[in-house]
Amino acid sequence: MPDTPAKYPAMPARLKIVALAALVIAMTLTVAGSLWLVQKQARQLALPTLHSELWQAYQIHMELDRLLLAAQALLDGKLASDDLVVRVQVLRSLTQPLEGQHLFDFLPESRPAAETTLKRVIALSRDWDQRAHWGDTPGVRQIAEQAVQALPALQRPMHEVMVATNISLANELDVERQHLYQYFTGLGWALLGLLLGGSLLVLRLVGNYREARELSHNLSELNQHLEQRVTERTTELAEGQALLRQILDASPSDVALTDSSGKQVYFVNQRLMQRLNLSSPNDFSLSRLFNNAREALHFREALQARHRVDDWEGMLAGEEPYWGVVSGRLLEYQGGPALLIWSYDISLRKRMEQELLVLATTDALTGLNNRHAFMQRANELLKTAERYDQNCTLLMLDIDYFKQINDNHGHQMGDQVLASLGQLLTRELREVDIVGRLGGEEFAALLAQTDQIDALQVAERLRASVEAMPLSCANGHPLSLTLSIGLASRHPAEPLEGVLGRADMALYKAKTSGRNRVSWAMN
Ligand code: GH3
Ligand code: MG
Ligand code: MG
Repeated sequence: MPDTPAKYPAMPARLKIVALAALVIAMTLTVAGSLWLVQKQARQLALPTLHSELWQAYQIHMELDRLLLAAQALLDGKLASDDLVVRVQVLRSLTQPLEGQHLFDFLPESRPAAETTLKRVIALSRDWDQRAHWGDTPGVRQIAEQAVQALPALQRPMHEVMVATNISLANELDVERQHLYQYFTGLGWALLGLLLGGSLLVLRLVGNYREARELSHNLSELNQHLEQRVTERTTELAEGQALLRQILDASPSDVALTDSSGKQVYFVNQRLMQRLNLSSPNDFSLSRLFNNAREALHFREALQARHRVDDWEGMLAGEEPYWGVVSGRLLEYQGGPALLIWSYDISLRKRMEQELLVLATTDALTGLNNRHAFMQRANELLKTAERYDQNCTLLMLDIDYFKQINDNHGHQMGDQVLASLGQLLTRELREVDIVGRLGGEEFAALLAQTDQIDALQVAERLRASVEAMPLSCANGHPLSLTLSIGLASRHPAEPLEGVLGRADMALYKAKTSGRNRVSWAMN
């Protein structure tokens, strides 16, 4: 079943870890921040002087009562002025910390009367404190009079100040509790997030560790397998190469392997080493293989151009130059182009071919061309004459009364006569002329670049030579031999058969005209 493509591409493992780590860091920072806020709030709440405003208001309220009683006692002469100074200073020590304080910030609705009362008490205490001096009885008395006058009216409002302070304080504490609750809640969530992120990170890391361990295990197994395969292959290759060397050494061919430039020699088999008498394979080169350096160059060019050369026949070098067949391939070896060359000796075959050719084209009795070879070579000569518009004349020669020689002196004698005539013809005619025995006691000669007049002279000379040929029978008696010759020069574009036919007619004419003569074709 084909895999269905994921809607979103899978997040890479590394990105997952980075995202989780970022989450954990963010959560840690959040927890640290929340802790700092909680600690700050708790420290504020733990301050001993904090939220003591109610207590201070209560003390002021009580001290106002005491000051009023003291002032009354001073006016009644029951108290020394310095005692009142003490009371004034005590009152001032209580009001001074409240100066500039926002005692009523957390009231649900403002109470201007309470604020005014507190301000008035603070102002009076400051004023009296500045005026109250030790031993200044008249001044202190004056303060006492003012106190007796002002304080009764302030006692009840001062109670209101206490109540307002209490309400504001209670509200402030409520707000701070709320804050503390929010900080704790935030801290809890952050801790939960941190726990969750941390757990995921740990799980991810454990997963990664397991995957890595499994991968490393698989990799090590794969490595072991690979090493084993490499060892096996190396052994196989070494064995293969050794076997190949054995096969190539045992090969009936001469084999060599070089790089494409021929400068580096990889292999030369034993047979070729011996044939070229090499002391080291590195001495091998194509110019040492071929007898002719130019031919070696041509062979290399052909191989480079076609990548393969088959059955290149040429003279190769050895102790004696010999006919050989060379083949080559351009192939890849050890990552580079290389030349594989192999050759073998065909001199025996060449010799046999030559012998066969001679046998197939020569008449055994006379050593002249046989009929088939004569026709072939005469045709070639005729074509050349045609091409260069040259003269060419054909002689048909027939021994006169040859049957009688056979009859009178035996067939063997007849053969001897034929062989002698063959020798005479070879001797008398030029190498460029083509001479052959067409059959029986009938011969033909095609004279190259010879017109009819010259040919007549040649024919006459031949006839005379034969007539004068010293022949004798087995019993020593001389044997006379004559020839009749028919002659025809080629006409333009005339085939050999045509010239042969006309020469034959001329021969017939020579026979019928009395033999031992030369006749020529009239047309
Ligand atoms: P003519 O003057 O008309 O040419 O008469 P001829 O006897 O030479 O011609 P004919 O055709 O009557 O006889 C040719 C003879 O040549 C017949 C044959 O036995 C003989 N002959 C053909 N081939 C050979 C051969 O290879 N060796 C020998 N000894 N005789 C051959
Ligand atoms: Mg004859
Ligand atoms: Mg004949």
